[in-house]
Amino acid sequence: PYEVLIVGGGPAGAAAAIYSARKGIRTAVVAERFGGQVLDTNAIENFISVAATDGPKLAASLEEHVLDYDVDIIKPQRVAKLAKNKLFELELENGAQLKSKVVIIATGARWREINVPGEREYRGKGVAYCPHCDGPLFKGKRVAVIGGGNSGIEAAIDLAGIVEHVTVLEYSNTLRADEVLLKKVQSMPNIDVLTEAATTEVLGDGQRVIGLTYTNRVTGEAVQLNVAGIFVQIGLVPNSEWLEGTMVELTSRGEVIVDTKGQTSMPGVFAAGDVTNSPYKQIIISMGLGATASLGAFDYLIRSSVE
Ligand code: FAD
Repeated sequence: PYEVLIVGGGPAGAAAAIYSARKGIRTAVVAERFGGQVLDTNAIENFISVAATDGPKLAASLEEHVLDYDVDIIKPQRVAKLAKNKLFELELENGAQLKSKVVIIATGARWREINVPGEREYRGKGVAYCPHCDGPLFKGKRVAVIGGGNSGIEAAIDLAGIVEHVTVLEYSNTLRADEVLLKKVQSMPNIDVLTEAATTEVLGDGQRVIGLTYTNRVTGEAVQLNVAGIFVQIGLVPNSEWLEGTMVELTSRGEVIVDTKGQTSMPGVFAAGDVTNSPYKQIIISMGLGATASLGAFDYLIRSSVE
């Protein structure tokens, strides 16, 4: 059996693996896609000390750095189930079983998509999901934010300070954000809010986004909006479905609840990164949380009596 088994090979999982291996303990990472969401990212400009890089490059260096150590990387494999006897038992989708004294969950999250034509095609070419990451790429341009919940309204306020103009499109007839955020939006001259607006298509010129179309759900009218960027803010879904029915406690949104050492409600199970209830989801934060969970796991192991 392993001493530490990490599920997920994104920034959180990679950091956890390196921190564990450096303690000289038997470590493995099982991942569906090594690199995680980083693989889907074009420009990365906020990974401190690296002025600019891209996703595939950073994902390759993550894996290379992990492989500098004695870590088993088991990929591409999905974990289907977590159980506990004397040791933790992880069942893979292919039926194989892995055993470990400690488990670190680092399965990340995925952005909910609007599922309209053009969204996938122009992802990273004007369709964006993270205002902290991609906001500055649209400096001085017109953008749209899809979604009028807290994350959409926060994104609009954030972007309005960088871009020329923001249009928020909300599907229902009201915005579902906190009052204080709504007041702030009303006070900002370069934000327009449209309710009852169902986005129907992302428009592009073959290279980049040039706009979108939406249907006014009251009048039925189809409208074109010319924008250079579209920020989709309709939810981030944690990859935690495989933990349902276990002792690992999740929030109502499915995030794994952790304490300051990355410990979950199930002793010996730690978690890190976007899959957790950590409020901000970023590469550098996931790496810090991966290191934290790994050190937390080491603390647990040296006090544990499981042989
Ligand atoms: P992830 O990166 O999501 O990795 C999860 C890992 O778990 C993957 O290896 C996945 O294959 C694996 N996995 C999931 N389920 C299972 C399972 N059941 N079994 C086995 N393996 C599983 N952040 C920034 O700081 N700067 C940016 O510029 C930036 N740009 C972004 C652009 C885009 C388009 C996106 C989508 C995100 C961006 N982010 C950016 C956010 C950043 O990528 C995430 O915060 C970070 O990758 C989270 O790391 P993580 O390790 O927690 O999870």
